[in-house]
Amino acid sequence: QTVVNRIAAGEVIQRPSNALKELIENSLDAGSTQIQILVKDGGLKVLQIQDDGHGIRKEDMAIVCERFTTSKLNSFSDLTSISTHGFRGEALASISHVAHVTITTKTADSPCAYRALYADGKLVPVKLGQSADPKACAGNNGTQITAEDLFFNTPTRLKALKSTSDEYNRILDIVTRYAIHNAGQGAKMADVQTSKEASIVDNIKQLYGSVASELLHVQKTLDILNVKVNGYISNANYSMKRMTMLLFINHRSVDSYAIKRAIESVYSALLPKGGYPFVYLDLEIDPKNVDVNVHPTKKEVHFLNQDKIIESLIDMFEETLKNAND
Ligand code: ADP
Ligand code: MG
Repeated sequence: QTVVNRIAAGEVIQRPSNALKELIENSLDAGSTQIQILVKDGGLKVLQIQDDGHGIRKEDMAIVCERFTTSKLNSFSDLTSISTHGFRGEALASISHVAHVTITTKTADSPCAYRALYADGKLVPVKLGQSADPKACAGNNGTQITAEDLFFNTPTRLKALKSTSDEYNRILDIVTRYAIHNAGQGAKMADVQTSKEASIVDNIKQLYGSVASELLHVQKTLDILNVKVNGYISNANYSMKRMTMLLFINHRSVDSYAIKRAIESVYSALLPKGGYPFVYLDLEIDPKNVDVNVHPTKKEVHFLNQDKIIESLIDMFEETLKNAND
């Protein structure tokens, strides 16, 4: 059973950046305004996130790493009203099957923090023979989650990874995306640093440099399904070394090959050969029309009336680029 769970968990968490994305989303769901991330050996040795969110109550600590027993669900009765992030209750469970997990957390109404260790979804003692119950300790409000020795028990998964520097770059990419999108919340990890006071454009400037001064704002509520669009796109006189698309749907970083292709086609007529656009695009779509809560391995997102929505996006992009260059 444990081995089956482990393999399944390895499918959910395929690499350190998958794990970190889930951890970041949990921190955001907890209302954090400041998130710090620490990475060693491309996240394979250590992946740590520290937030200042609402924390986990001591009595919930025993179950947070169990599959589908998400304590978040207790506080929201209506699942369809949840528009942000993943609501699968699988992330922490999966991580605990393929790494050594330590959680230190403190809610505002608790006099102290609690620390607990997890393996295969359950609390485990620090030393054999000791109690596995969470231990009182010092700590600030919020949660620190550390995943160590990722994939130590799934050698095949470990072998499938290219290199620690490749994994680090994937982590950097995820952190950069979320840091830009979550203006008003500070992020800190090595080179990625944004302040709480910064706007999305400030964040883009901080992390992507000069493209920020060439950005055009796109903002509209589409007639189709009331999709809210907000974005910053590079002008046709600015070219990136490669296509850079930061796409968020309902605040979750996703990929859409269809959207990417459509945007490429808009710019291909405008940019010299070998030039690429920068696009930050934030879509809010009624959750009932979008399949965002897909399995974490399927980053590719699908939504209702996709073709029509993409058509409207293209019109919007073309008009904005035309107006800017008339
Ligand atoms: P889900 O996010 O889908 O509910 P997860 O496995 O990602 O499932 O997390 C399980 C539960 O652990 C969450 O529902 C939440 O209650 C709690 N949790 C996880 N991370 C944090 C955090 N950083 N701060 C507060 N609570 C957290
Ligand atoms: Mg989660």
